[in-house]
Amino acid sequence: MDFLRLKDRKIIIFGVANRKSVAFHIARTLQEAGAQLLFSVLGDEAEKAVTKYFPGCPVYQCDVSDEEQLRNLAATAGTAHQPIYGLVHSIAFANYSAGIQPFHLTRKKDFLRAMEISCFSFIQLAGLFQPHMDADGAMVTISISTTRMAAESYGYMAPIKAALDSSICFLAKSLSGKSRIRVNGVGAALLKTSSSAGIPGYIEPYLFAEKATLRKAALKTEEVADVAAFLLSPRAGGINAQTVVVDAGMATNFFDREIVAKAVRED
Ligand code: NAD
Repeated sequence: MDFLRLKDRKIIIFGVANRKSVAFHIARTLQEAGAQLLFSVLGDEAEKAVTKYFPGCPVYQCDVSDEEQLRNLAATAGTAHQPIYGLVHSIAFANYSAGIQPFHLTRKKDFLRAMEISCFSFIQLAGLFQPHMDADGAMVTISISTTRMAAESYGYMAPIKAALDSSICFLAKSLSGKSRIRVNGVGAALLKTSSSAGIPGYIEPYLFAEKATLRKAALKTEEVADVAAFLLSPRAGGINAQTVVVDAGMATNFFDREIVAKAVRED
């Protein structure tokens, strides 16, 4: 049964870097559902990976922080493949080269660069691709499960994801003036990808998060991808302007019995 009703619909996917990428798994799920995929990636390595894993699918290259490249992409890919039914934005960048820094010492240059690539690019892509999209289409971005948990290692990216969450609402509203395009996000908890491997000291919070889920098992990237595919599909027609949290219940488990016992146990 074609539950998702995405068969033969064209979907453009931003953010595949390798087989671990959230975008890679979204693409796999969408491919299984029979969608026609096209990709925009950053750099030759990513293009090679997409060509290898999704042979025959058109692949474009675009640095989303470069306005001219963005416009060229919309003019070429947008025009060649319209009407595009879905757009997936699975892109983020933060410069963590200085290691874990106190939040109040965040460098302006780093913050603004991360904002440009991780948040503003979604706003720009929405504006540039909307004219090439099906009026009943959908856009999805990947956010984080909570922007109010002040994890020191994640640092300034959380406020940027908060801006992304808010942008989802504003885009849903502003696109509704011209179309019925829905805009949603998946608020994912900790995963194992190349991006997260670049977050200083990531492994310990990741292992902790595994224990803090209600099921005591790590969140799988495929589980995030499945929700992204659902939000893109007409089956989610009634969901708009939302960030759907996918965290295997972690947010409700602050007082996990085992974790509390370990924390208060006297050595
Ligand atoms: P990833 O490194 O596989 O994907 C990030 C992508 O962003 C890469 O494909 C990279 O090429 C792209 N990118 C960075 N700068 C770019 C630029 N200037 N122009 C174009 N593309 C650019 O890592 P991922 O974990 O799959 O990240 C995808 C999304 O998932 C991000 O928004 C990330 O914040 C989010 N997310 C990840 C986790 C996690 O634990 N990994 C958790 C929650 C949310």
